[in-house]
Amino acid sequence: MNFRIKKDTLMLIMESARDTYPDEFAAFLRADRSIIYEIVLLPGTVSGRRSAVYQLYMKPIDFSLVGTVHSHPSGITLPSPEDLDLFSKTGSVHIIVGYPFRLKDFSAYDRNGKKIDIEIL
Ligand SMILES: [Zn+2]
Repeated sequence: MNFRIKKDTLMLIMESARDTYPDEFAAFLRADRSIIYEIVLLPGTVSGRRSAVYQLYMKPIDFSLVGTVHSHPSGITLPSPEDLDLFSKTGSVHIIVGYPFRLKDFSAYDRNGKKIDIEIL
């Protein structure tokens, strides 16, 4: 499936990542069919330099949640081994945003860690 994301949603992600910097920001992505239109923060999600992503393992059962987003304060948007492990377990689209969090500072991956294109709407 080819995912698309609303520009407003991507802007909110970048703002949240900026607010959380230099810690990591992490959330789930909610979509209607293939269009990502909302981020969902889990109650109890604590952002931290290394911990944000792991909280995502506590995923509620909700089929509108299609994947994850998290930030890399380093600015490098390549998945770490821990990220790849997370991708394989939760959802089919995963976005990594990188410092300085401009609209183009992101990469998207499928559950196998293969880079995918996401169109901004
Ligand atoms: Zn990561």
